Amino acid sequence: MNITVIGTGYVGLVSGVCYSELGHNVQCVDKLPEKVVMLQNGEVPIYEPGLQELMIKNMEAGRLSFTNEISDAMVDADLVIIAVGTPPLPNGEADMQYIEAAAKEIAQSMNGYKVVCVKSTVPVGTNEHVRGIIANHFKGQFDIASLPEFLREGTAVKDTLHPDRIVIGAESEQASALLTELHRPLTKEIVVTDIRSAEMIKYASNAFLATKISFINEIANICEKVGADVTEVAKGMGLDRRIGSSFLKAGIGYGGSCFPKDTKALIQIAGNVEYDFKLLKAVVEVNRHQRYGVLDKLFHAIDNVYGKTIGIWGLSFKPETDDVREAPAIEVIDRLIELGAKVKVYDPIAMESFRRILDHPSIEWCENALEVARGSNALCLLTEWNEFVEADLSEVEAALLQPVLVDGRNVFSIEQIKKTGLNYYPVGRPVFQ
Ligand code: NAD
Repeated sequence: MNITVIGTGYVGLVSGVCYSELGHNVQCVDKLPEKVVMLQNGEVPIYEPGLQELMIKNMEAGRLSFTNEISDAMVDADLVIIAVGTPPLPNGEADMQYIEAAAKEIAQSMNGYKVVCVKSTVPVGTNEHVRGIIANHFKGQFDIASLPEFLREGTAVKDTLHPDRIVIGAESEQASALLTELHRPLTKEIVVTDIRSAEMIKYASNAFLATKISFINEIANICEKVGADVTEVAKGMGLDRRIGSSFLKAGIGYGGSCFPKDTKALIQIAGNVEYDFKLLKAVVEVNRHQRYGVLDKLFHAIDNVYGKTIGIWGLSFKPETDDVREAPAIEVIDRLIELGAKVKVYDPIAMESFRRILDHPSIEWCENALEVARGSNALCLLTEWNEFVEADLSEVEAALLQPVLVDGRNVFSIEQIKKTGLNYYPVGRPVFQ
């Protein structure tokens, strides 16, 4: 099959590489010339484990190439996949400008029957809008389809090659047959449905996962007040197969490029049809508060942060990615600087991407985890990279000015802490001093 992927971000690039790994001819298009040059040279502009090896392998096999020119990439395409960004507008709605621009560019390069599908996360009705844009320019036959993406950054290659399920929203036999054939080698669980339901499945899935996170965070906050341990509670709950253990980890709240934006977009989608999605509004509000819970622990431990130095472990929104979009570290560091603190930071991968969105004279960029602790009045763990989880806590304690560790991800056990003189502030578990 000849496949053209529009957009080479986390979704487009990983999808393009994985489809080529299945033996298809894939051309990936991006509008950023510098990105395309990097990709043509075998360099991956994002951090995603396993991606570069697979990309180079398929480029060398002649199945994968990169271009700025959508018209070149479209000539022989059977399938065109839109994977551009849908970032949030100030009111929470998804910004459709990149989707619309991509649809127009596709329309102008259509030269025969193709299936055009949207992999980006888009509000219900967007695929029909894309159909309208293409039909305005191209009078021949084509089909549209919805192909929502469920990969997780950090495990994107594995998730794409071994998905739990594939969802296809299509209204023609030809389109659903083509997309089913493409994904059949990956999983037996292929849900073929109508386009609007497919668009909704993506938002509903992310909203549900975000709800699980906010739910366990609320339980954690109550645990702190009644003297229970949320990790024990989550373990006991998660063994019930009706509940399941995933997404039951209490902490500093969800971040990243999907959950914050998709929850707010679904609230807007509901609002546009005069439905007040009360539950999801609460999920978003709980998540916003959860960030401040970690700061409250810090204020409790060292009183006033003015003039103090606070160490931050982790800047990306989760481990194994350089993505810092909506990362908890942004709000936490912003607030600390606002209150007059100096901040020492380190992340194994995301230093550069973080610096692009938040740089300030009060931030000291460190070379390693221990350097962050050296001379800090307290240390806050915000991302559970292995490097922090496996740190020698006695060394950390010796490096700190005051033995204060705020653990926004609950990664250390009390047994580990007991071997040190650290004052330990986890989430939803008893403080240890
Ligand atoms: P991204 O911002 O990393 O990448 C988007 C890319 O599209 C950029 O490289 C940009 O230059 C390119 N682009 C924009 N307009 C273009 C055009 N007209 N022609 C060619 N290239 C163009 O975005 P992402 O994280 O890959 O997300 C893409 C979509 O997938 C979003 O809707 C997102 O919600 C959804 N999604 C993301 C994830 C994730 O984990 N990142 C998971 C599932 C779904």
